[in-house]
Amino acid sequence: MYPNLLVKRASLTPNRSAIIFEGRRWTFSQLKQEAIDFAEKLHMLGINKGMRIAILASSNPQLVTVLHGCMQLGCELVMLNERLTEEELLYQLNDSQPDVLLVDGLNRSLMYVNRLSFDEIIAAPNKPIKIDSEWSKDRTITIMYTSGTTGNPKGVRQTLENHVMSATGSALNLGVHPNDCWLCAMPLFHISGFSILMRSVLYGMTVSLHTKFNAEKATEEILNGTVTRMSVVAVTLERIISVLEERNLAIPDTFQSMLVGGGPVPLNYLERAIARNIPVLQTYGMTETSSQTTTLSSEDAIRKLGSAGKPLFFADIRISGEKEKGEICIKGPHVTKGYVGAASSKNPQVDGWLHTGDIGYIDDEGYLYVVDRRSDLIISGGENIYPAEVEQAIVKHKAVKEAGVTGIKDDTWGQVPIAFVVLKGQVTEEELKSFMKTQLATYKQPVGYYFIDELPRNASNKILRRKLHEYL
Ligand code: AMP
Ligand code: MG
Ligand code: MG
Repeated sequence: MYPNLLVKRASLTPNRSAIIFEGRRWTFSQLKQEAIDFAEKLHMLGINKGMRIAILASSNPQLVTVLHGCMQLGCELVMLNERLTEEELLYQLNDSQPDVLLVDGLNRSLMYVNRLSFDEIIAAPNKPIKIDSEWSKDRTITIMYTSGTTGNPKGVRQTLENHVMSATGSALNLGVHPNDCWLCAMPLFHISGFSILMRSVLYGMTVSLHTKFNAEKATEEILNGTVTRMSVVAVTLERIISVLEERNLAIPDTFQSMLVGGGPVPLNYLERAIARNIPVLQTYGMTETSSQTTTLSSEDAIRKLGSAGKPLFFADIRISGEKEKGEICIKGPHVTKGYVGAASSKNPQVDGWLHTGDIGYIDDEGYLYVVDRRSDLIISGGENIYPAEVEQAIVKHKAVKEAGVTGIKDDTWGQVPIAFVVLKGQVTEEELKSFMKTQLATYKQPVGYYFIDELPRNASNKILRRKLHEYL
């Protein structure tokens, strides 16, 4: 058992700031009160402990209250990605079968059998709930969808133990200072953002919450000392560096750490970051490990440039296979115990190890280098794109016989998807583009379509996506 995180935190440091947002502040005590208030209203509307709640909302303090409110009630959270299309969201709802869908005040067209808006909940009277002082460590806190190589997204279960051990391992590496404030411009529906909320309640740390990443605003908060930590992906790191370069500024020593992960980071970005005094730490993590598994420590940032560091205190890694480079396998209390829905019978671990599909090597001092992503994965601005998922969407068009998707280099996003299509009817590139707008989130839509006669396949008839480049 662990203590009820928010209740414990509010009893330890009630007056410390939990959230700052557009000039307003919420203390841990206020956050606790608002969360319990929200939980009592949900309870009045028939939501009980143990139920599963899907949430579709933008990042702001109200969402933080809602998330904590649902946790206080003892419910599981299905974290829906705002950028997905209705089609993609319906797949996840159908797979996870939540008892209710909660949506924020924005015009959300997504419909579900049992749907409530935040405003409807706030308008409801309260029905007192029993607040648990302890939470079971095996309780599922969040479910986040991440696509498999088959193209069907899988709902990853993240337990209380996963989150607590992830945040604790991170603290043992980065340290915790009483004046720490973590800038969160990563989506809360991704583990990169949600894990910041978990660290906040465990460490008693303030979060400066941004609804969207804005390079000017983020850089300003770093320069004026408001924030001491931040998580970024390669694109957002580069934008902050560019702002500093334009103004010919370096950042103050009060800033503690800039965690960069989610995909490969060009060495050039790391060097430019160091030139601006940004304590940039490469990290390797994923949804299945509730964020970081390895992180470079600050004293190694320059000496081991390009490495994703060593495993955090509770984590272990190994490379499987005979060769020097092989599949990265992960062990530790932060690794998911499994999935929900269609994938619930799959065991993510083999002999206690999570097989990531990512390729890497460990040098003789124990530092991990990630050299290639799991099979065919395209990473665009920190978002994962699974070719199989895009291919499945393209072949839904009646003129398409088959499709193969791969990534090409892009200066801004790292990579963007392109599609190779074999036709059985008549269709133009423009028509396919507008069709795909209805199928997939914008970042997943191919930027170009190439019509070919046949897809390259191997003996067992699998598409050889790496060969598609030869058709360009
Ligand atoms: P997600 O499940 O969306 O968090 O994505 C996790 C995936 O991002 C990993 O399996 C890797 O393929 C990739 N990734 C994360 N961190 C790094 C890194 N430091 N270097 C290269 N790839 C990374
Ligand atoms: Mg993933
Ligand atoms: Mg990612």
